[in-house]
Amino acid sequence: MLDYHLHLWPHDQADVALSLEQIAQYCESAEAAGVVEIALTEHLFRFVQAEPIVAGLFDDDDAELRVSMRRYWDHHARNDLDAYVEMATAAKEAGLPVVVGLEVDHYRGRMDAVAELLAGYPFDVLLGSVHWVDAWRFDDLSDPVSMAEWPVRRVDACWDAYAEAIEELAASGACDVLAHPDLVKVAGYVPEHPEEWWDRLAEAAASSGMAAEVSSAGWKKPCNEQYPSRGLLARFAARAVPFTTASDAHGLERVADRADDLREVLRTAGVDRLVAFSDRRPRTVPVSPAPASSLPEGPH
Ligand SMILES: [Zn+2]
Ligand SMILES: [Zn+2]
Repeated sequence: MLDYHLHLWPHDQADVALSLEQIAQYCESAEAAGVVEIALTEHLFRFVQAEPIVAGLFDDDDAELRVSMRRYWDHHARNDLDAYVEMATAAKEAGLPVVVGLEVDHYRGRMDAVAELLAGYPFDVLLGSVHWVDAWRFDDLSDPVSMAEWPVRRVDACWDAYAEAIEELAASGACDVLAHPDLVKVAGYVPEHPEEWWDRLAEAAASSGMAAEVSSAGWKKPCNEQYPSRGLLARFAARAVPFTTASDAHGLERVADRADDLREVLRTAGVDRLVAFSDRRPRTVPVSPAPASSLPEGPH
């Protein structure tokens, strides 16, 4: 198993400290759950280097959403990408089972600029995510302005916009893994027949050569299921899209969260291999069994 989607800091923490000790603790926690390698994948929007890429990007959207987005960026984009990459690289060089990654957002029409920025760093793996449509952060459950949009928008149109963003992100070739591939369901709004969107998402991954992430993070959200849904997972598998596994933890306590439940999801879908990355090149790894220490104790 892998935990290929990890953040070092919770969202409410703006200015952050980097330490090798914290990364070592993540590795220890992961290992206890039978996870053999982790990827550090902090959000690109945590870093000042992302600011020029978004300049003016949300200017045409609804005023309230724009203000909310501006606040979000002001809070998050305060850290130095160079320092983050240096620390993650140091952890790897110290022999920890870590790869250096980043969670990259979709920036409409600007993925070339993103790719150009990131090409200057020694990343092992880049996650591609869609967290917003224009200035609407549809997954920000803690933001009342964003959440007020769901009941007044057409669910089908939201899923269309999400799929379109994923298609552009995938076609750009800027990233390696589609993170939480059906995140658009996070708040619990799902079309009656989601199959056509599942087909589009699966096709986007397959045609771009991206892997898809199987994540336990959805189980603690209103959608209350893993990403991706079983129907979408089956479509990825049918198109031979490779998988990673992930917790999307934002702190030590959730590292490798519900790895056993993810194992079970993969087993029932007939998936017995995952894909790991170094230097943005994939290699196949087995879905390792749960370590004996994490299994319930049997009779002695
Ligand atoms: Zn994400
Ligand atoms: Zn994340």
